[in-house]
Amino acid sequence: MRYDPQPKASHFVDGAYVEDTAGAEIEVVYPATGEVIARVHEATEAVIAKAVESGRRAQAEWAATPPRERGRVLARAAALMRERNRALSVLETQDTGKPLQETLVADATSGADALEYFGGISAGLTGEHIPLGEDWAYTMREPLGLCVGIGAWNYPTQIACWKAAPALACGNAMIFKPSETTPLSALKVAEILIEAGLPAGLFNVVQGAGSVGAALTTHPKVDKVSLTGSVPTGRKVYAAAANSLKHVTMELGGKSPMVVFDDADLDDAVGGAIMGNFYSSGQICSNGTRVFVQKGLKDRFIARMQERLGGAVIGDPMDEDTNFGPLVSARQLEIVQGYLEKGKAEGARLVCGGETLDRAGYWMTPALFDGVTDEMTIAQEEIFGPVLSVFEFETEEEAVARANDTAFGLSAGVFTRDISRAHRVISRLEAGTCYINSYNDAPVEMPFGGVKMSGVGRENAKAAIDHYSQLKSVYVRMGRVEAPF
Ligand code: NAD
Repeated sequence: MRYDPQPKASHFVDGAYVEDTAGAEIEVVYPATGEVIARVHEATEAVIAKAVESGRRAQAEWAATPPRERGRVLARAAALMRERNRALSVLETQDTGKPLQETLVADATSGADALEYFGGISAGLTGEHIPLGEDWAYTMREPLGLCVGIGAWNYPTQIACWKAAPALACGNAMIFKPSETTPLSALKVAEILIEAGLPAGLFNVVQGAGSVGAALTTHPKVDKVSLTGSVPTGRKVYAAAANSLKHVTMELGGKSPMVVFDDADLDDAVGGAIMGNFYSSGQICSNGTRVFVQKGLKDRFIARMQERLGGAVIGDPMDEDTNFGPLVSARQLEIVQGYLEKGKAEGARLVCGGETLDRAGYWMTPALFDGVTDEMTIAQEEIFGPVLSVFEFETEEEAVARANDTAFGLSAGVFTRDISRAHRVISRLEAGTCYINSYNDAPVEMPFGGVKMSGVGRENAKAAIDHYSQLKSVYVRMGRVEAPF
């Protein structure tokens, strides 16, 4: 099976593909070649209205469906995604440029994990009984209603599923707006959910850029917005949602620290830094882009990293031997190249990489900076590309203080063989998602999200349930009501 990258129509609303060519055209570009592989249109007001109307209608019935049945639909969708993993992965590679070697194991598979996990716990989502002597109270866990999901372009399938699975498990409907850069795979998620038995209208996909996202965020009939995107967009969406007091989840950017002590296993630390800087060509929000290496290990760390970067296979993303693909767009390449220039100009030493390749598409080699200091631009701003910065430190106290000296707080990692130090340091790092002797694992069983400017709320695990449901409390009096008059 193979998907045609050109979808039948731009949007998927109320169980079917929907087109409205009045919306501005969006070209979908294969980042490895720069070729236009599909065209879709932005959602018009009419498409948005249909998505909202069908979502609200379908949600009322879905909320009344036994949770076990809701869970069964999600489980079937997970199985279909696994069966079609290769076709979905090829499409994801076309949409994002990420190598097939990655998409085969990280995208539709992690989406299926989420559908399976939330499908499984759906039937166990209950309230509680609260004894109050003669009287008692109980709580009911109710859906929020109509949720909007807005995605970034780096993990389109995963983001759609990480939002849809808990939303649907809790009895909500969702309208999902993928990033305008990667609009294709969310449509396949919608098709698969329908095939798995999801009633029409419960998962609608509408295309468009920020203005469509803004129209959804301010819509009076939308109850919640979950955004995966940058901090500037997060600020706008949070403020817009506040007008009507919508629930929000914000999965935003980061500038996460990875702290490598002298006693760390060198190859594990280098491997962790590769996973946390160069997987998906560095376009991952939780990346540990500030790598603090203790003085005694630093030179060996740099040497080993440089050696292992020689193992990057840069080429056709569809070739399963390729392990490093292009950046997602010309714009992203330009942004990352701009940061490289700033790093050099501000005095960091470019050890290797950072060259653009003389071929079609948006290619650059993985870049390694040494001698980076905390006030440099590349130390402070999220780059979202394959650029690793090494900072030298001497003491644990110093590493913790410098690691926390950032407005972001998405992730943090520690590499050491000293278990007390590992837990001590992690407990002091200001980050929502942390790693000890590892980096960037994101199993659905573990809550994922940030603190400080990196976000609000959590995705995945049982924690996500609190962000897609609300409690109704019911006081039950067993005796007579005593009133003063
Ligand atoms: P972006 O902020 O430019 O866009 C994200 C989404 O928001 C897109 O779908 C976009 O169309 C939409 N949008 C833009 N303006 C909007 C508005 N005013 N109202 C509503 N929606 C609007 O981000 P991007 O460039 O697509 O993705 C990269 C960013 O996403 C990075 O900062 C990265 O760290 C972050 N990210 C975070 C996570 C996480 O889970 N924390 C995961 C992946 C990416």
